[in-house]
Amino acid sequence: MPCVSTALIIGGGIAGLSAAVALARVGVRCEVVELADSPAGASIGLSGRVPEALDELGVYDALYAVSTRFDADTTAVSQRDSTGRILSAGPQRPQWPGAKTAIGVHRPVLLQILEDTAQELGVKVFKGVTADTSEEDDDGVAVTMTDGRQARYDLVVGADGIGSRTRAQLFPDGPKPTYAGQFSLRWMLPSAPVDGEGWYRGPVGRVGFYHLPQDLVYIPAVVDVPERARMSDQEVYSLFARLLDSYTAPAMVELRSRLTPDADLIGRPFEWILLPAPWHRGRTLLIGDAAHATTAHMGMGGGMAIEDAVVLAQCIAAAPTLAAAFDAFMTRRFARVSTVVETSVAMSRLELDDAPPAENMALASAAFKILGQPY
Ligand SMILES: Cc1cc2nc3c(=O)[nH]c(=O)nc-3n(C[C@H](O)[C@H](O)[C@H](O)COP(=O)(O)OP(=O)(O)OC[C@H]3O[C@@H](n4cnc5c(N)ncnc54)[C@H](O)[C@@H]3O)c2cc1C
Repeated sequence: MPCVSTALIIGGGIAGLSAAVALARVGVRCEVVELADSPAGASIGLSGRVPEALDELGVYDALYAVSTRFDADTTAVSQRDSTGRILSAGPQRPQWPGAKTAIGVHRPVLLQILEDTAQELGVKVFKGVTADTSEEDDDGVAVTMTDGRQARYDLVVGADGIGSRTRAQLFPDGPKPTYAGQFSLRWMLPSAPVDGEGWYRGPVGRVGFYHLPQDLVYIPAVVDVPERARMSDQEVYSLFARLLDSYTAPAMVELRSRLTPDADLIGRPFEWILLPAPWHRGRTLLIGDAAHATTAHMGMGGGMAIEDAVVLAQCIAAAPTLAAAFDAFMTRRFARVSTVVETSVAMSRLELDDAPPAENMALASAAFKILGQPY
């Protein structure tokens, strides 16, 4: 018997839907409230132990069928110069017996598979609504939703991302997200394949690409922008065009020829936050980006959110009380997640300092070795 019977999950992104699936599988009745009406986003790479966490959620096989597979000979993480010459194969990744293949998946596809699985397990997902007010007593949390509905829960999970309102309510004096000095650009290009997958470094910034099975090319990029900026769609397009113009590599020239002002581009500043432990107060716990968001240099933020969800359900299933479950969760999660945030931010700083790429690869390899240990 789990130590709680009911849970409200605030936020139906990667962390929240993973938590709903994981908790439902150990017998907790879950409701999810999500502000957005439909999932959006680009692609996401899920590597290390994360495929095993997805397998525990029961969704790995379904995802594998619709994903790009990053097997041992993938060139998707290779490091190239601006002409396209390969400088290194990318950071070293540990292997272990029975390791599952890392995958790259279109985020809306990932979120739909998680949501469908949650609903099959009896989870109720409410869209366009959130928790408005809440009051906690000895027996639970009474919540009023923005649509006026009221309900009581044993556990509340704040999975509402880096701008978490739940975090601001629980820890009003806690840290706020910090701008890393770099801007993330992403482009989902519906297109025929382009040769030369990998990461390219040039004078304006870094750009990479890999293919998704849905005839999509995923093209992420990172550019140094000293002051945190809000860019218009036109500014994001111009920056992407300037970035691609700075390369002579055939793949980049080819991508530049396909870039048009109406391209599906996302631009946002890289921000990070690592909330000091504990990430809970009373009956409410923060997971995923709400507790620990980072730059994408390791490509592990979403993976940590999925691991959080799986470990939370394991702790809820095994502990005699909610307080004991929260303690066990923090013991298992804090150091591991700190490694990801601190390494990613350090890699971002090295890039800002124009350090040799090999220094970045060494940092990433050391962190991936730690993440190769079971979660
Ligand atoms: C450019 C970039 C590339 C990345 N690449 C990778 C990668 O390759 N691999 C990887 O593992 N990670 C990657 N990440 C990190 C990853 O995107 C995040 O760690 C992950 O999305 C966190 O999931 P989350 O569910 O905690 O938060 P989010 O994805 O932000 O989801 C939060 C959800 O809560 C909802 N919400 C917000 N406020 C409320 C509210 N008050 N009430 C109800 N709902 C609310 C939002 O609509 C959203 O659906 C990348 C990040 C960036 C910026």
